[in-house]
Amino acid sequence: MARDKKHKAEYDKQYRKDNAEKIKEYSDKYNKEYYKNNAERVRKNHAKYRERRRDFVYNYKMEKGCAICGYDKCAAALVFHHEKGDKQFGIGNR
Ligand SMILES: [Zn+2]
Repeated sequence: MARDKKHKAEYDKQYRKDNAEKIKEYSDKYNKEYYKNNAERVRKNHAKYRERRRDFVYNYKMEKGCAICGYDKCAAALVFHHEKGDKQFGIGNR
């Protein structure tokens, strides 16, 4: 059984690789249709998602405060900063 599962996972992976175009075409069509039928729900979930991310960043900034002077009164006044060249990821890409 476990072996069959592994075999299927490998088969699926290869299938997705071989049919990337076809899958993209299908999922684009599916997503478009889904949005058409669930626009309100999709918009609500998007708003919720953005809110969660914004809260996370806001709380993170308020918790850490300014690295130099410790200011932590307003998150909007704090920006993420990095030493030259050691940027590991963009906060917007997380
Ligand atoms: Zn400061």
